[in-house]
Amino acid sequence: MRIVLLGPPGAGKGTQATILADELGVPQISTGDIFRANVGAGTELGVLAKKYMDAGDLVPDEVTVAMVEDRLAQADAANGYLLDGFPRTVAQAEALATLLDKAGQPLNRVLEIRVPDEHIVERLAARVTIVDGVETQRDDDKPETVRRRLQVYAEQTAPLVDFYSRAGLLRSIDGVGEVTEVTERALTALRSE
Ligand code: ADP
Repeated sequence: MRIVLLGPPGAGKGTQATILADELGVPQISTGDIFRANVGAGTELGVLAKKYMDAGDLVPDEVTVAMVEDRLAQADAANGYLLDGFPRTVAQAEALATLLDKAGQPLNRVLEIRVPDEHIVERLAARVTIVDGVETQRDDDKPETVRRRLQVYAEQTAPLVDFYSRAGLLRSIDGVGEVTEVTERALTALRSE
């Protein structure tokens, strides 16, 4: 199964991606996680990505596409994967399609998780992670950055809903509810014809 997860920041993509990847027996490939790991390790890619991430903007397409291409070439991705946070622009979706066409490995499904804006700002403001035993907020979860990320989603990523709908790949589910409820909806949608 080659699957793309689509949805605004705070839709619960990451949470669902981990559960679904496990359930389906494929690796979860999250571009946000890969960028954050590079930022943490202070790599050249991380230094470059951080500027964009802190502003709530997208890392340039050529950088992101090259990174994903490398990741998809790794052995664990040979039998499928769940992409979380990629593609995020029409140019990225086109680059992915070209790459997969060449390999003769088309996408099977694109799952859109829908959550209204008012839920999102609330969810992200409340989101904390524990780092070294201390509750911390992601730098890009500050209210002004969240607003920018939502704007970027509406402008650059939302067009992918149409893009994949025309390709007949799109399945959309409601992302409001308990995590387990949303997982059930996702599995039903992914298994439907
Ligand atoms: P969220 O889905 O909550 O916005 P992510 O962890 O997916 O968070 O992404 C965090 C940041 O990483 C994005 O705001 C962006 O700067 C960068 N990023 C992640 N994926 C991509 C991508 N496919 N293209 C460009 N930038 C990306």
